[in-house]
Amino acid sequence: MDMAVTLGRWRAKVVDAGRLFLDGGAMFGSVPRVVWERCIEPDDQHRIPLATRLLLLEDSESDRIVVIDAGVGDKEEASFRERFAVSLPEGSGEPPLCRAIREAGVDPAAITDLILTHLHFDHAGGATALDDSGVSQPVLPAATHWVQATNWETALSPNRRERASYLRYNIEPLEAAPLQKLDGDGEILPGISVERVDGHTIGMQTVRIEGGGQVMRYLADLAPTRHHLRVTWTMGYDISPLTVLEEKERMLSAAVEEEAVLVLEHDPVTACTSVEEIDGKIVAK
Ligand SMILES: [Zn+2]
Repeated sequence: MDMAVTLGRWRAKVVDAGRLFLDGGAMFGSVPRVVWERCIEPDDQHRIPLATRLLLLEDSESDRIVVIDAGVGDKEEASFRERFAVSLPEGSGEPPLCRAIREAGVDPAAITDLILTHLHFDHAGGATALDDSGVSQPVLPAATHWVQATNWETALSPNRRERASYLRYNIEPLEAAPLQKLDGDGEILPGISVERVDGHTIGMQTVRIEGGGQVMRYLADLAPTRHHLRVTWTMGYDISPLTVLEEKERMLSAAVEEEAVLVLEHDPVTACTSVEEIDGKIVAK
C-alpha cells in the first residue's frame, strides 16, 4: 500500500520506520530452513531482513492522528545496532519515529495517540529517545499511549526467555506521557478497536480499523510476515505457539469474512495483503 486507504473517517497510511535483521530460524520456529529460506533469503549470519512498519491513521472528523507502533529507535550502542543490522529512517536532529512520521507528511507534534501493540524493543523502542543528558524520554510526550495492562506488567518483570526483548528504558519513561492501560478487547477510538492476544507474549494487542464498509487489521507479531499467515507457522520467539495458532486462526477467519486488508509489520516486501479460504484452508491472496 503506497497510497493511503480510506476507511470511513480514517485515512490510513503505512509508514516505514526502518529495518532490522533477526535470526531466520528464530523467526520461523519449527519450519525447516530448507523451506523458509525459499521464502526469505538469509544473509551470511543466517539472519533475515525485516521491516518495522507502522500505521498512521488521520481522522477527517477531528484533529486526531493515531500511530500504531514505534519501531526500534536509536538509544542503543553500535554493538546492538550491528547485531540486528538496524537501519533507521534517514535524517538527524530528531528521533527516528519523528523522522518516519514527518516522511509520511505529518508533523510529529500533531500525533494525538500512539497505540503500542506490545513493548518488545522492535515495536516500542522508538517511542522513547535519549535527551541531551542521556536520559530516556517519551518521543511523543503529549500523545496518549495505549498499551494492554497485562503487557505493561509482563514487560516490567519479564520471564527469562523474554528478558532481552523487554528493556526497561523503553518502558518506564512512558509513565511520563499520558498512558492508558487497557484491560482486554474494546473500541478505544471511533472505529478503532484492539483485540488482546497472549500467545506471542502476554497482552499483545492487534488493532482493527473499520469504516466506510471496509476493515483493516494490524496484526503485529501474530503474523509478522505474509509467510506467517499460514496458521501453523509460528515463531521461536512466541511464548505459547499453540495459543498463537488458535488466535491466528480466529483472527484470519474473521479477516476472510470481512475481506479485511491486513497490515504486515515485519514483512520485508509486502506491506499489506488479504486472505481467502480455499478448500478449508486460509491462504494469502
Ligand atoms: Zn514481539
